[in-house]
Amino acid sequence: MAATIIAIGDELLAGYTLDSNSNWMAQRLRRLGHPLKRVTQVRDREAEIVEQVRRDLADPEVSEVFCSGGLGPTPDDRTFAALASALGRELVEEESVRERIERRLERMKEAGLVAEAELNEGHLRMARIPAGATAVLRNRVGTAPGAVYELEGTRLFVLPGVPPELKDIFSEEVEPRYLAGGSAATVREIRLQFAVEGRFYPVLKELEETHPEVAVGSYPNFDSKELVLRCTGADPVRVADAIAILTRFAESLGYPVRQSAAGTVGC
Ligand code: ATP
Ligand code: MG
Repeated sequence: MAATIIAIGDELLAGYTLDSNSNWMAQRLRRLGHPLKRVTQVRDREAEIVEQVRRDLADPEVSEVFCSGGLGPTPDDRTFAALASALGRELVEEESVRERIERRLERMKEAGLVAEAELNEGHLRMARIPAGATAVLRNRVGTAPGAVYELEGTRLFVLPGVPPELKDIFSEEVEPRYLAGGSAATVREIRLQFAVEGRFYPVLKELEETHPEVAVGSYPNFDSKELVLRCTGADPVRVADAIAILTRFAESLGYPVRQSAAGTVGC
């Protein structure tokens, strides 16, 4: 089973903000044994969020859907409203969230950060979430809460877009409560200096046939001038076997082979 991410926000699609939340979660989910099938980015339009949420929830290969962004106090934050519509549920005011926002505003007033602690419509928006949440996820860094819904075989996680908030809720709430106990795939890779990628076509083609359960990727890195050949699979013996075949082939072409820590980020 796999996971998906729906990253929500006009700023992502317009190129102002890099979708670092998805990249960060992709790494964490791989290591936790919940690899991603798909990441989509959608604009702050209710109909478009609804469409993508429904598509991911209906996908039989998907057991976890993560939404990021659009939970804030401004009118362009529409994720909870869109989710209510996608799930066919009412938006309900969550008492515990409202109280937490009130306490937070009190503290901000005492610190002189805001003039008054009155809740406005924007604050109340953050406390209104689709009915029937399995749990409201506590945001210790910011104001908007996260939420999780258990839906016929799929878990839907709703997380704020601000990266430190998303990371904190994911690490402190989501990971220990919902994602622990999975087993990550085995990843091994070799690195070759100044190797010409095209010369590896025959061995990569052969591995597709002899080791179909091992995913083999070829990633040239133009900064380090290295070619990374990476093998991923559930069976460590088969992954090691594929790496041995690649190593022998590279050496037969005269390339010195460097084994490296698995899953290095950057290529
Ligand atoms: P909050 O209510 O806590 O502000 P939010 O869920 O409303 O959170 P957004 O309004 O969507 O979050 O985004 C808040 C900030 O986080 C913006 O600066 C935005 O660019 C950034 N951000 C949103 N989504 C992502 C993402 N996928 N990757 C990196 N940064 C993001
Ligand atoms: Mg937004």
